[in-house]
Amino acid sequence: MVIFDGVKYYKCKKGYMEARGPSRGKPRPPFKFLHQAVWVAYNGPIPPGYDPHHKNENKEDNRIENLELLTKEEHGRLHAIAYWATQHATLRTCHGCGKKTSRIKWCSQLCINRDAARTAYHELRSDPVKWEAYLKREREKYAATRTSIRPYRPRV
Ligand SMILES: [Zn+2]
Ligand SMILES: [Zn+2]
Repeated sequence: MVIFDGVKYYKCKKGYMEARGPSRGKPRPPFKFLHQAVWVAYNGPIPPGYDPHHKNENKEDNRIENLELLTKEEHGRLHAIAYWATQHATLRTCHGCGKKTSRIKWCSQLCINRDAARTAYHELRSDPVKWEAYLKREREKYAATRTSIRPYRPRV
């Protein structure tokens, strides 16, 4: 939280320092964002169609030296490029389902489990000895459950 000119600013979802909305009995803060308030305090009103931009891309660094005025068009383009770059630098493909994810290998625990099960199955299937042993084990398990059922005895 930062206080500037008597107004409290909190980091918003997009990373900007945002003025807390008007609460009962308090006037609406004059600026939505801290970088707007800082710019106006040093340079006067922001001309229509312009936005102050954080030169170093750090939205919490609201020193006047870090702000520059850009047209909304230039500004939008710059952020679109920055957004694209970060998305493509960090997004990977989930090894389980193939969806884009910001995680290293899998998008969710479900995909981790599914992948582990699939790998285990393929390992087993590719090794005839292990596969036979597995089948034998499963047959024995099945047989064990069968013997626990009382065998059918015809009445004499
Ligand atoms: Zn910007
Ligand atoms: Zn996945």
